[in-house]
Amino acid sequence: MEDEEKKDKPKDAESADREDTEQKKPRYCSLCRRAERITGPLISVPGGIAICRDCIEKGLDTMQSSGIDLSSVTPSNTKISFLDLGNIFGTQHRPSAAENAEPKKETPLLTMKSIPAPHRIKSQLDQYVIGQEDAKKTVSVAVYNHYKRLVSLDKKKKEDDGAGVEIEKSNILLLGPTGCGKTYLVQTLARILDIPLALTDATSLTEAGYIGDDIESVVSKLLAAADGDVEKAQRGIIFIDEIDKIAKKHNTNQRDVNGEAVQQGMLKLLEGSVVEVPVGASSKNAMVPMELVDTRNILFICGGAFPDLPEIVRERLNKTSGVGFAAQLRDRFDNDPALLHQVTTEDLRAFGMIPEFLGRLPIVTALDPLNEDMLVRILREPKNAILRQYEALLAMDEVKLTFEEGALHAIAKAAMEKETGARGLRAVLEGYMRDIMYEIPKDDNIGEVVITEAYIRKTGGPRIRLRGQDA
Ligand code: ADP
Repeated sequence: MEDEEKKDKPKDAESADREDTEQKKPRYCSLCRRAERITGPLISVPGGIAICRDCIEKGLDTMQSSGIDLSSVTPSNTKISFLDLGNIFGTQHRPSAAENAEPKKETPLLTMKSIPAPHRIKSQLDQYVIGQEDAKKTVSVAVYNHYKRLVSLDKKKKEDDGAGVEIEKSNILLLGPTGCGKTYLVQTLARILDIPLALTDATSLTEAGYIGDDIESVVSKLLAAADGDVEKAQRGIIFIDEIDKIAKKHNTNQRDVNGEAVQQGMLKLLEGSVVEVPVGASSKNAMVPMELVDTRNILFICGGAFPDLPEIVRERLNKTSGVGFAAQLRDRFDNDPALLHQVTTEDLRAFGMIPEFLGRLPIVTALDPLNEDMLVRILREPKNAILRQYEALLAMDEVKLTFEEGALHAIAKAAMEKETGARGLRAVLEGYMRDIMYEIPKDDNIGEVVITEAYIRKTGGPRIRLRGQDA
């Protein structure tokens, strides 16, 4: 059928279709590899080559400066025919790269109606992230305000109104031990809001020119997450993990990476700057096309475990408690897992974060370490809970999988010993479930498997019920 349609289609229409789709594809200069939206219109040369005005001008300049008299070269004695660049590109003003970086769409992508209210964002987060009430609330409000800010900027631009209140950017700093859900919270947020997200690790970032990813490489990751759509990327989220590892070191022989310089290098990115990033590659080189991305409206979320921070907070609280009655309260802080909730900018400065950096992360919130009960909830409550995943796997063999309450607590205890937060849960469970999933499909008569506490404690086995047997 399709072939017939093709046959029937006049050739002209076919080539028009092809031209149409080719025109929609972004074009890049074959020499400097910059995108047409950065360079201005490209001129096509036979052989599928497209060249920008800068490269043509540079070429002509080079020919002249190397002694070739262009006036002596005429179309009759050479194959070169001279082009009037004014005719090709028009004499109109060619937008600069920075001007090109401005969003071209007139209609705002966001309206107040399209942004879910904080309580809606939070209730969606609740379906995946267990506990961490403070962080979920803070992040929901911060994200809501961030997108309100974008709506107000769009409106201002549309109405050409320079006046009015400029809402500040609400970049966020998440504090909390490893495996307590910092990354997961951000990933869930990006999925709920359907915005692109790029994750990076502060330890892999270096100052430009050093070995490692330079700071801007994360913007290129975001562009990739937005499928190359610059507009979408400019409203995305960048999550930078292990931010505590780039603290200023009081003791310089600990590490050789200059954390303070990396913090300095990130300032512009956090605040908003236009960066030229390679498309579809992590490094800049002559053959990779480049795009301009403005980071002004990107929401930056940084996360870190800040291991010694509770100690710093405790010391400050103890100092302010002074003597007498307040001093009796000191012990109260000693084993308080919620100390991080009382953190101040001064504490973070004492930890080694520079004030300019902290100034660009105005929202600070702490996540709690996960206790046994929370780990048990994480095993079974989230929409994509690990237990539900195993249940679904065995249901495909028409076998019911159940867990004794004691077994869940034993798994949580074993995971806590690993000190990797909820990350340990899957590792612990995987060990037990591998054998179950290997053995069960061998016998078609098995109808149910109960994971007992004894099985997890290695003092017994799982309980098996055959089909047709009473529970
Ligand atoms: P980190 O705080 O080190 O960034 P992650 O967010 O990467 O930790 O957590 C590791 C994994 O543990 C997540 O992918 C998620 O499956 C699970 N997890 C951690 N915390 C929670 C939580 N509070 N609720 C549900 N799952 C969680």
